[in-house]
Amino acid sequence: MNDQISSGDGHEAHGALGEAEYAEFMELAAEEGFDPSYVDGVLDEANAGPLPVLAVIGRPNVGKSTLVNRIIGRREAVVEDRPGVTRDRVTYEAEWAGRRFKLVDTGGWEQDVLGIDASVAAQAEFAIEAADAVAFVVDATVGATDTDEAVVRLLRKAGKPVVLVANKVDGPAAEAEAAALWSLGLGEPHPISALHGRGTGDMLDEVLKALPEAPAQRFGTALGGPRRIALIGRPNVGKSSLLNKVANEERVVVNELAGTTRDPVDELIELGGTTWKFVDTAGIRKKVHLQEGADYYASLRTAAAIEKAEVAVILIDASDSISIQDQRIVTTAVEAGRAIVVAYNKWDTLDEERRYYLEREIETELAQIAWAPRVNVSARTGRHMEKLVPAIETALEGWETRVPTGRLNAFLGEIVASHPHPVRGGKQPRILFGTQAGTKPPRFVLFASGFLEAGYRRFVERRLREEFGFEGTPIHISVRVREKRGRKS
Ligand code: GDP
Ligand code: GDP
Repeated sequence: MNDQISSGDGHEAHGALGEAEYAEFMELAAEEGFDPSYVDGVLDEANAGPLPVLAVIGRPNVGKSTLVNRIIGRREAVVEDRPGVTRDRVTYEAEWAGRRFKLVDTGGWEQDVLGIDASVAAQAEFAIEAADAVAFVVDATVGATDTDEAVVRLLRKAGKPVVLVANKVDGPAAEAEAAALWSLGLGEPHPISALHGRGTGDMLDEVLKALPEAPAQRFGTALGGPRRIALIGRPNVGKSSLLNKVANEERVVVNELAGTTRDPVDELIELGGTTWKFVDTAGIRKKVHLQEGADYYASLRTAAAIEKAEVAVILIDASDSISIQDQRIVTTAVEAGRAIVVAYNKWDTLDEERRYYLEREIETELAQIAWAPRVNVSARTGRHMEKLVPAIETALEGWETRVPTGRLNAFLGEIVASHPHPVRGGKQPRILFGTQAGTKPPRFVLFASGFLEAGYRRFVERRLREEFGFEGTPIHISVRVREKRGRKS
């Protein structure tokens, strides 16, 4: 690897740019007629890094999904009409008052699948593990129930900041019912109507106060400590088998359905001379046997584990066709911007025919992570276990790679000269200059004279990968089109 490329150490004052590089970059921007404050804003945004996470929890039917829909301003987290239908997607990006954060929606878990107490306990477990703050939703028209009280105890133990949301306060008449929720001992109840939007702005202001700027406890640059790995994959791909293999332990069978916070949720495992933190191993070892609940539990666990991890090892059952569920897990990890390794497990079962079809499936179904290091393993026989660590190291290295601005612009200049953007409507949009504003994952900002087509952006990404590596990491590229001097957007 080229020695001019360094590892990014995090979020400095000017994105990942040092002082000298920043000055050089601003000069480039000024030459091309970009407003400095606009360029500063773009750099900040590109270097936003991991977002803080808000978990929305509460009993079934208190309005969690309605609230999530209101916050993200879409009907994406559909309030299901059919009971028992579970959702796959559990995390969403949201923005309020100019600050971005992630929402974890626990509303998809039907109470009759696990029983209400188990379901609530499991939610609280995820709130503890994945969230930086919790919005605890209570139905003000019902008042505090025993289950609500149980949640309060779990939240206390967790010690995360909590915003108490008194929902279904559709008008002033219900305010008194909201006030009764002071009795929960979680501080001020914030009366809202998730359905009509009443009070949600004030409540979100409180949420922003509760959320840290960035989840520093997970990604702090000074943190050091073991790197964090999430083992993810759909049920039965062999996650617990693999975990047991690497941990050299007997298979652990846990009978309890729902989470018990007594379990140590992460595990430190020494591999290849290095200690790694496998996050949420408790979640892997827990087996949820009820069919419908199992899928939803799996999605929640996946989302939570990814949030906590730096690198995701995605297990795929090589003996089975690659499914929509596999792809969804891949997409979740890519969208979260984590380093990725793909482990094709159960390799011991493959015959020549299956192997042939598997390769075809990988090409068509997993093209979006063609850049991820791949290992063909068997948790049963131990085949190629020793290849796991080098693959993880490669992915983390790609994730942290940073190309200095000078180097990047020399490269962009070559691209523009050798492969100019096609002429469109008599004009030829051109990349003017760019910078890598952040790492973990690599984030680029390109400034251009006109709109760059998706195909050209893909070409640029491909060339970036050819030139600089970035193995095992998603890359963000945002393109800013030059406006007339003086205009700021
Ligand atoms: P979840 O199970 O906690 O996710 O609850 P849902 O979001 O699915 O909401 C349960 C029911 O309560 C739905 O029929 C919603 O329309 C209704 N609901 C949610 N928020 C409000 C509200 O602010 N006011 C009223 N009147 N009904 C609400
Ligand atoms: P999880 O749900 O992802 O944790 O999957 P498990 O580890 O519980 O494995 C599911 C099933 O696949 C079990 O019956 C395992 O014995 C089996 N299994 C796991 N890894 C392998 C493997 O490498 N080869 C074979 N043949 N079976 C495996």
